[in-house]
Amino acid sequence: MGISIEWFGCSTYRLKIDDLTIFLDAYLDRPATAPDVGLVTADVTECDYILVGHSHWDHLWGAETIIQNTGATLIGSYETARVMIDQENIAENHIIPVAGTERLRLSDDVTVTVFPSLHSHIWIPTQNGLGRLEDACFGHEGVFHQDRLELLENRFGSREASPLPWFKQTPRGDGGALCYLIESPYGSIFFKDTMGHYSNIIRELDPDVALLAAAGRGNIDGEPVQGSGIDFLMDEIGLLDPASVILGHYDDFAGSGNPALDDLEPVKQALTTTNLRADIVEMEFGELTMVL
Ligand SMILES: [Zn+2]
Repeated sequence: MGISIEWFGCSTYRLKIDDLTIFLDAYLDRPATAPDVGLVTADVTECDYILVGHSHWDHLWGAETIIQNTGATLIGSYETARVMIDQENIAENHIIPVAGTERLRLSDDVTVTVFPSLHSHIWIPTQNGLGRLEDACFGHEGVFHQDRLELLENRFGSREASPLPWFKQTPRGDGGALCYLIESPYGSIFFKDTMGHYSNIIRELDPDVALLAAAGRGNIDGEPVQGSGIDFLMDEIGLLDPASVILGHYDDFAGSGNPALDDLEPVKQALTTTNLRADIVEMEFGELTMVL
């Protein structure tokens, strides 16, 4: 008895709490150039709930197959709900749209509370085109939203031009990012799937285990972090103060050959330097780890 977690790359995890099976994000069906994570959505036979952090393809894509095969209920943003219902023909009664502050019952003794969150600043060009987490980045403060959208278009081009068919799922961008606090008799787990946060919200949370994203230019209360992605993570871990941290999203999830980190050594070193109490739990794809 307890809570087991398996990581399937990017920010996709399978969480088992006694008889309850929860997927955190659903991106399993990756391009051939991305490392194999050992599981595809067609092979998922059991799932009660899917919690989706935001509507981008590398988080939401695959949820429709898992729902169809298992009858799972998805909890996610109103944009995630629109994509699933209008574009993927998922029945309304399999989707619970949320915006943050909702508290939901997942079983007799497991609950999840939803909080508003923020996406990383993907509109900011990365150094050399590589989004390395160790690279310190400065500037880009106070930029109007319309100018951010133009920079985003310049960086990624139009969705229609993408060779990735699942880009059809993202006409409204990230759809508003969410984060989740799962509470159980064994302890609590905090999950977010992109590198941004409202500091006043996460400062109030007190999870035992934090699952955090490690990729992109960090977003603190709407503005880009002035420093590296590692600096952002230290700030985030300091605010949450969990006993254990599990990092995701730093792998080569898109098969581009440019992961945000090669390994977790720079994060471990920074944790030691900053004197934070959190232990890093390093996970291999598909390896089952008891976290509580
Ligand atoms: Zn995203």
